[in-house]
Amino acid sequence: ELGEPSYRVRQLFEWVQQRGAPDYEVMTNVPKSLRTALAERMPVRSTRVRRSHPSDDGTSKLLVELSDGHAVECVLIPEGERRTGCISTQVGCGVGCVFCASGADGVIRNLETSEILEQIHHLGDLAGEPLTHLVVMGMGEPLHNVEALVEALRIVQDPWGLDFSPRRITLSTSGPRQGFETLLRSGLRVKLAISLHAPFDDLRKELVPRGGSGTIQELQKMATDWFEATGRDVTFEYVLIDGVNDSDDHARALARLCGRNRNVNVIPMNPVPFAPDLRAPPAARTNAFAAILRAAGVPLHLRRQRGDDVAAACGQLRLADASSG
Ligand code: SAH
Ligand code: SF4
Repeated sequence: ELGEPSYRVRQLFEWVQQRGAPDYEVMTNVPKSLRTALAERMPVRSTRVRRSHPSDDGTSKLLVELSDGHAVECVLIPEGERRTGCISTQVGCGVGCVFCASGADGVIRNLETSEILEQIHHLGDLAGEPLTHLVVMGMGEPLHNVEALVEALRIVQDPWGLDFSPRRITLSTSGPRQGFETLLRSGLRVKLAISLHAPFDDLRKELVPRGGSGTIQELQKMATDWFEATGRDVTFEYVLIDGVNDSDDHARALARLCGRNRNVNVIPMNPVPFAPDLRAPPAARTNAFAAILRAAGVPLHLRRQRGDDVAAACGQLRLADASSG
């Protein structure tokens, strides 16, 4: 429309997606007149950081405000040379897991591709350098917003963008089948984690009320399909809750499901204010649970709770912000 040569597309794309430019001012290889014309037509970013919460363990959480006033969370997790960003895909979540702050008020809306990408740039600003790893584990069910997410991840993987390899991206899902099919068809080959949380159908239904039909058998099938399509196994995530899914029986049933190949992430539950009866088991119980899995040969990762002091489990900062006005 502005009659510019086509190479400007690449210049602008690189400024925004690779270098994370916050505005047109910094784009010094673009003529000033064009920068002004663009700034009048559309801002580089539609979101802004409303609050920033550093935590003693080095993680930092951002509350990002969208143009309509809603807000989502994202987290920077620095670890040695790694700078991992954890990003959201929806305002709220419709799945309604009983232990999760993101789903407490249901789903409000899907994020746009640009709103997903801008979280990555805000986190890059905070880190002072581009992110090296990405986990889609913030607010929302990623596969309920799969089209916008796939587009965002393509841009993240673009050589003109951050040039991420798919191995540096992990997507966590409660496992809606339809969204999963779309992800498979998209050809994106990220790492996939499935939020299991229970080895029995009735208990899973209780903990993950609207996780699609989501029977254990269907989730197993999803894992097999993913392996066949991508050559990579999925990881099962298991949030451990005191007296709910942490018995020896649960551990043995989980071990039978997983065998010796399936990775399991066991995550002691972070407390959430709206479910005061739910909590992580005492350390001895967590260790006993893990020991049963290890004895059965299950590749196990017992996750540390990071960022607990800034309410790191997804959705909690937004709840706190809403209750503090
Ligand atoms: N909706 C997707 C991705 C976001 S949640 C999913 O559910 O997989 C990312 C992970 O955080 C999930 O495994 C989820 O179960 C976990 N999680 C949510 N609330 C938590 C809490 N209070 N304590 C510990 N983990 C929690
Ligand atoms: Fe949604 Fe995931 Fe939270 Fe469940 S754990 S409510 S699927 S964000």
